[in-house]
Amino acid sequence: MATAVGRALARLEPLIVEAGTGTGKTFAYLVPALLSGRSVIISTGTRTLQDQLFRRDVPMLAKVLGLPVKVALLKGRANYLCRHRLELTLQQGSLLGGERGVAQMLERVSRWAATTPSGDLAELTDLPEQSSVWPMITSTRENCLGQECPQFSRCHVFDARRAAQAAEVVVVNHHLLLADLALKDEGFGDLLPGAEAVILDEAHQVPDIAAQFFGQVWSVRQVQILVRDVVAELAAAVVRSPAITGELSIVEARLDDLRGTFPGGAGRYEWANLPEAFLDVLPELETALGDLAKELEGLGAGAGVANCARRSQGLAASLGALGSVPDAAGLRWVEAAMNGLSLHFTPFEIADRLRGYIDARPCAWVFTSATLAIGDDFAHFASRIGLPDARTLHIDSPFDYRDQARIYLPRNMPDPQHPAFAARFIDACAPLLEASGGRAFLLYTSYRGLADGVAALKARFPEPPFPVLVQGEAPREALLTRFRELGNAVLLATGSFWEGVDVKGEALSIVAIDKLPFASPDDPLLKARLEGIRRRGGNPFSEYQLPQAVLALKQGVGRLIRDFDDFGVIVLGDPRLKTKGYGKVFLMALPPSPVITEAAAGAQFLTERLSRLRERLCES
Ligand code: SF4
Repeated sequence: MATAVGRALARLEPLIVEAGTGTGKTFAYLVPALLSGRSVIISTGTRTLQDQLFRRDVPMLAKVLGLPVKVALLKGRANYLCRHRLELTLQQGSLLGGERGVAQMLERVSRWAATTPSGDLAELTDLPEQSSVWPMITSTRENCLGQECPQFSRCHVFDARRAAQAAEVVVVNHHLLLADLALKDEGFGDLLPGAEAVILDEAHQVPDIAAQFFGQVWSVRQVQILVRDVVAELAAAVVRSPAITGELSIVEARLDDLRGTFPGGAGRYEWANLPEAFLDVLPELETALGDLAKELEGLGAGAGVANCARRSQGLAASLGALGSVPDAAGLRWVEAAMNGLSLHFTPFEIADRLRGYIDARPCAWVFTSATLAIGDDFAHFASRIGLPDARTLHIDSPFDYRDQARIYLPRNMPDPQHPAFAARFIDACAPLLEASGGRAFLLYTSYRGLADGVAALKARFPEPPFPVLVQGEAPREALLTRFRELGNAVLLATGSFWEGVDVKGEALSIVAIDKLPFASPDDPLLKARLEGIRRRGGNPFSEYQLPQAVLALKQGVGRLIRDFDDFGVIVLGDPRLKTKGYGKVFLMALPPSPVITEAAAGAQFLTERLSRLRERLCES
């Protein structure tokens, strides 16, 4: 892998590498990247890997190689304090009096702001991610005043960008990289022009993130923040304008109409299913935002107010564009969540756009992950990122799956839709859980499945002989820490635990997956992709749904063996693996472990391995 990455870097070519767990892929791209002397961006899917690269791997390898490389960690705007907005918020203090806890938190932020050299909000460990303070003290691409800002010379956001531009290796995440490419939100568009190589680890996430950034989003929250900013900027400029107060109330009234005519609770809704009354409010809101922009423009009250005028005009224009975008290009949908409504347009295809960016300048693009291929076939991933002809490489995991693991496919499982499925799945796992004394992840493909699984486990083990943890009882990281500390827990979880989770050792000896992870066909985002494939005459199932589900299953299964000493049993409860023709596509993508169909064989394997481990521990 290192040789292939080195060649891609030398020739400025694209490369796609699937490197199985344990290959040391991080070193295999870092070493040639550091030796190349090129300026490199490394992009990751998770914050954990970003921190690991910046704090541990890159400095350590640079030292070993004797290369004094300048490294920078760059996060999105929303991670840095915006001094200007903090000042505006503090000036506006009396307006915030009603919000509980906000004043105290702002006081805390101000004290920290006076001393922090980086402005990185991660230093404020007691500021919750969902806190309403966050947008009051951070900037967006729209509301940043840039060079016109009175704080520009001491701005943390720009300081971090300058440091990144001066570095030879910049570590970012996929959101920031793609925002930069598409010039959206937190993006500046200045990261890539200076880069000679972009290495994307955890690259399986890239197509979905790209679809978000290459589409359009308009949210009620953006308008609410604009309204608050207008009030703050007028107060800061000591301007009173009854006309603007009037326009603000019209905008707020239209927002109320929008929420009032929205038909349902939290979830994603296709545009075509929205009521006329809701759609009728959109042009009215567009007009209200346009009128507000005109009034603000006419004031001539400084950079802050002028910025608000531009944003109001921009929000009117993007709302208008969303209302009139042709249905042939993508899918429009609305997301209702706790913090409001957002309107989206997702293009059917992102491959051409991504290809356009990749072709735009000479630069090596390396995509790598433990799950990119189906067997040796990279066609699905390569075509999604617009690089069907890119050089590819598959590196097998060095772990001995034949010895370290068993794949258990229980006999006589009912259809996944059968009401007894959840109980039968737990029945199939029970002898293994008893043999290993817990030490398991039970991974579900839906929240409904998870709830049924929790009930079934309780029914089978009214007084479980192992601790039981359930997703949602505590934040993800806290649950994982608890799982590692307990050493014999059983964790029941869905989606977010299928990837990026690394539990080494016997604390995780069983990974049981209830059903094949086909994405929900009701999700508008998935519908957009399937429709795109249909329109160009393709087969959505074989080109998208099946390969996506195979890659997701590989991710889930990959949680089990994380080291040379690990061992365990993978339980796959879905009978379609054997009854459907596509089942063999999944089976062929699994590690080459012996397949068993009797729980007793799995239980015996676990008992033997655990006692062998105990003997070894006693000897040492
Ligand atoms: S330049 Fe932008 S991010 Fe920096 S302090 Fe000013 S408004 Fe905030």
